[in-house]
Amino acid sequence: MQNRSFYNEILTEHNIRPEFKHDLENPDIVLEGVNPSCGDDVWLKLKLDGDTIVDGAFVGDGCAISQASADIMLGMIVGKSKDEALRLGEIFMKMIQGEATDEEIDSLEEASALKDIAHMPARVKCAVLGWRTLKEAIGDK
Ligand code: ZN
Repeated sequence: MQNRSFYNEILTEHNIRPEFKHDLENPDIVLEGVNPSCGDDVWLKLKLDGDTIVDGAFVGDGCAISQASADIMLGMIVGKSKDEALRLGEIFMKMIQGEATDEEIDSLEEASALKDIAHMPARVKCAVLGWRTLKEAIGDK
């Protein structure tokens, strides 16, 4: 188990140098996710080839947790199938609700940096904003 400052470092790094926070030309899917309780705003943009997410990015504004979480999420889902991405999202939701096993949390790689959010109810909507928007964008309606 890594310590808390290690997790904070991951979040800080994704805020200072987000890899996926930029515009994306000709996306197949564009969806805005909003968390009014904090003022977080994320525009998720995805390129699909069949069922595979071949590229993705986001633009938006908001608190450090919402923006870092979206950046981490994109790093995990680009190159994956829609089903795999949705499954990761389900595990992430479980973790945020404090219901994931250690094994499931480990499978979330960098996103596991957000597991302490389970103890911060006010920040839950920030942490799940990107994932919730993803589910709306590619999940079964
Ligand atoms: Zn927020």
